[in-house]
Amino acid sequence: MERSECPHCHKQIKWYDNVPLVSYILLRGKCRECKNKISLQYPIVEFVMALLFVFVFFYYSSFATFSLFSIIRDCLVLFVLTFIFVYDTKHLEVSDAVTLGASLLFFIVSLFFGANWFDMTLGALIGAGFFLLQFVISKGKWVGGGDIRIGLLMGILLGWKLTILALWIAYVVGGIFSIILVLMKKKGMKTEVAFGTYLTVATFIAMFWGTQILNWYFRLIF
Ligand SMILES: [Zn+2]
Repeated sequence: MERSECPHCHKQIKWYDNVPLVSYILLRGKCRECKNKISLQYPIVEFVMALLFVFVFFYYSSFATFSLFSIIRDCLVLFVLTFIFVYDTKHLEVSDAVTLGASLLFFIVSLFFGANWFDMTLGALIGAGFFLLQFVISKGKWVGGGDIRIGLLMGILLGWKLTILALWIAYVVGGIFSIILVLMKKKGMKTEVAFGTYLTVATFIAMFWGTQILNWYFRLIF
């Protein structure tokens, strides 16, 4: 999400032309310098981010103990997840600096606020190990190295129980989406979806509804 320059004329975008959503509307989606169209992707992503932030605030006001720290942390997490989602969808790869940096950051911050280090470490081992194993067995054909690092981040964000759930959700969401793509006969086109895209969606679901899903599931079997 490099936003510092215009993709057409490569002129630096002034800070007052770089205000999320507002600038896009004021400039009618065109660069001030060269008047070329700016991709709709930017305002859409900005709009989704805004919705997610409102959602987090709403979630902690209504369904969980209100905590300013949790709100800021979750907004930051969703910012990172959105970045990985967009980047992975567009380029079919993951920025290692982002996944590794975020893993370290959230590990330390969570520790500082009383999270269980063992739970996070076990989650990271399961998340990263799950993809590392596939990577080794298939010699890098089934999964990419980026998935291993997303798995690591998931483990730290979710702890071991929700990590397992999120991996399962990712395959369900991925399966459903693949069927939809096949039904729409779009598979032949460049519609390959990076698995990291599903992992970020699954992490989001597990973060906010994971515990309820697990409770519901175990009530179902026992
Ligand atoms: Zn321009």
